Amino acid sequence: MTRRHTVLIALVIASVWLITGCGTKSEPQASPQAEGIESASRVAFTLGTVAELRAYGPGAEEAVDAVVAELERLTAALDRFSPGSDVYRVNAAAGEWVRVGSETLALTRTALEIARMTDGAFDPTVAPLVDLWGFVEVPDSAPAEGQGPTALLGRRPPEDAEIRRLLPHVGYEFVEVDEAGSRVRLTDPEAELDFGAIAKGYAADRAAAVLKEHGIDSAFVNLGGDIFVVGGKPDGSPWRIAIQHPRPRGPNDFIGVVSVKDRSVVTSGDYERYFEYEGVRYTHLIDPRTGYPQQELASITVVAPTGTQADALATAVAVMGMEKGLEFLESLPDVEGLLVGVDGRMGMTSGMEKMVELRK
Ligand code: ADP
Ligand code: MG
Repeated sequence: MTRRHTVLIALVIASVWLITGCGTKSEPQASPQAEGIESASRVAFTLGTVAELRAYGPGAEEAVDAVVAELERLTAALDRFSPGSDVYRVNAAAGEWVRVGSETLALTRTALEIARMTDGAFDPTVAPLVDLWGFVEVPDSAPAEGQGPTALLGRRPPEDAEIRRLLPHVGYEFVEVDEAGSRVRLTDPEAELDFGAIAKGYAADRAAAVLKEHGIDSAFVNLGGDIFVVGGKPDGSPWRIAIQHPRPRGPNDFIGVVSVKDRSVVTSGDYERYFEYEGVRYTHLIDPRTGYPQQELASITVVAPTGTQADALATAVAVMGMEKGLEFLESLPDVEGLLVGVDGRMGMTSGMEKMVELRK
């Protein structure tokens, strides 16, 4: 079978997308009626995740190629583990000013704004705690006993004393930005910058921007659970995004379907990156004030005009918990949320009620 045929079949079955918090699955389930329309789809491993792209309309192939190039460029700038990346150099500079690219500068500024706005529930300097807990993926490995589907370094909680030793070095107030000089520095040499909770959302925005520059007005971008949809489906109807059930009762179980156009939909959860120790689940969403993972929410979905907002806010709300999280999201214009507690309780903002169909 030729490649063209393969792509066509993929399109014909694509309509409901399953969004999995920090996961990589997205299950095509029905049809977007894209026959006769030029289209392109691509799966690429970039930004430490699986990127899944679909674009419809003239020039779709070139547009998707340009997106992949853009994602590679962003990975090179933003991955804190890549020697030479802006973030790596800022962290290695032990408090000195470091010249960074415009992406890094813009993203640092935005991350600080969101940190202030969420009163530090989202904090881009949480990295030392992430490392201490071992919520760091081990590539190409099977998960250890007690771990979720993602293989992690961590298997048990660190000593409380170690957490308390690091806490004074976690704080977004240690990050300084010099706009004119395009420089960033950490005023505490032990502090570390980490865009893990915002970079994929930002990259989804950049992907959408590149697609639009290429004249694409119908596209779907999934960066490991951070989705951005450009326009509606090729037939003009909204994209339908299925939100994975955090405790699936069978394969491809979902809690509901969100219908959106021109929006980012981001789901974070406690069911992909976690380990269990003595019957307690510890997930990768850390409360920067206590140094411990949040234990209240199993699934956090945020719908927002940009992926940057949706991604960072999903992490912030995970830390805030059900009640404060919903109140906070409700206070933001154009931002909606759907939260599921570890106890199965569900809560959503008033605007979300209008865009979601819950599964019976
Ligand atoms: P994922 O798509 O993997 O679920 P998230 O957007 O939920 O990613 O971000 C989780 C990642 O962000 C963690 O792996 C960690 O690196 C970092 N992180 C954890 N807690 C926080 C926090 N409170 N603020 C900012 N970043 C965090
Ligand atoms: Mg996030």
